[in-house]
Amino acid sequence: MDIDIHDFRDIDPGDRVLMGPGPSNVPARVIQAMSAPCVGHLDPYFLSVMDETQSLLRFLFQTDNPLTIPVSGTGSAGMETCFVNLVEPGEEVVVGINGFFGTRMTDIVRRVGGQLIRVDGEWGRAIDPEAVRRAVQGRSPKLFAFVHAETSTGVCQPLEDIASIAHESGALLLVDMVTSLGGMEVGVDSIGIDAAYSGTQKCISCPPGLAPISFSPAAVKALDSRKNPVASLYLDMSMLRSYWGPERKYHHTAPINMVYALREALRIVAEEGLEERFARHHLNHKALVAGIEAMGLAMFVPEPERLPTLNAIRIPDGVDDMKVRKALLNDFGIEVGGALGDLKGQIWRVGLMGHSSCRKNVFTFLSGLESILRSQGVKVRAGALEAASAVYAEA
Ligand SMILES: *Cc1c(COP(=O)(O)O)cnc(C)c1O
Repeated sequence: MDIDIHDFRDIDPGDRVLMGPGPSNVPARVIQAMSAPCVGHLDPYFLSVMDETQSLLRFLFQTDNPLTIPVSGTGSAGMETCFVNLVEPGEEVVVGINGFFGTRMTDIVRRVGGQLIRVDGEWGRAIDPEAVRRAVQGRSPKLFAFVHAETSTGVCQPLEDIASIAHESGALLLVDMVTSLGGMEVGVDSIGIDAAYSGTQKCISCPPGLAPISFSPAAVKALDSRKNPVASLYLDMSMLRSYWGPERKYHHTAPINMVYALREALRIVAEEGLEERFARHHLNHKALVAGIEAMGLAMFVPEPERLPTLNAIRIPDGVDDMKVRKALLNDFGIEVGGALGDLKGQIWRVGLMGHSSCRKNVFTFLSGLESILRSQGVKVRAGALEAASAVYAEA
């Protein structure tokens, strides 16, 4: 095929305020770390970077789990890794389904040959632990799988009761922390979570490309006592452990510069401090909600079940979803998300994740949305910025 090289310009996407369901804006320090020279995957320098990255990940997951590593691939690779390692054909798996990502878990359970025990919940609400208890009565599942932060709806799933039920029934608990890790309390050890995965591009504010994973000693025991080899060679945690652990056994070439980026993003998280970081996410979320409600718009999720990291806003009747999002992007440089599945056209998904969770973004978004809705003839009440300011003043 012939090409004219002059048709291919330098990459220059322009400035974007990333307030969608991920990726979030990446700090310059992280991009700078990524541009350091690439070294070999067994270079002594890189080995020390790997060790430090693991320590920083344990800090973020709030765990002492030795097997805590970033897997090559995005959050979905993290999801697939956990199921393919912890479930063998014929084993029962409980999945909580109240959104897109819970639904995706059921797809993976089917692909790995697990027997699915569904616990369905309403999209936009947390799942009731009593429904979980009823679903497992008289069964002996291997694994419970729940989404902590359901990015498709903005719901936070409380995990304490579910962890008790899982352990009472002798099962492991797997949790999707893609939209919670780095933005809110996850407490892997204090809650007793056996396997957790996340992605780098949401509340950690690193580009997409790695999936942090942590396995508890009980999950490692399940891995080591498998009857069948893990169906995926690339995602086999026992092989990955031999590379990330003291053996340093080649498995696949680590994405060196992505690991640099993750280490720097995690260093930024640790410099801020977890409590301070969670408080920042909570405050910006509160200010955004105050502004939205002052405008006369409504949140999709009831107050106690809302995520600080992903805000689902009901689209007012008669408002064209796509037209508003286009104007936000073209006129304000702001990216927000539309909805997935049945909620399409009903909600906007506004992320306040990691580096993107800041006062400036809250004000930019509120003023942008207000002026766009007005220009489209939608009646909105004045005072959104004042309401958000009041939340900051109180803090
Ligand atoms: C984004 C997301 C995923 C998938 O992550 P990718 O990086 O897009 O592969 C999985 N679960 C949840 C809750 C997410 O928000």
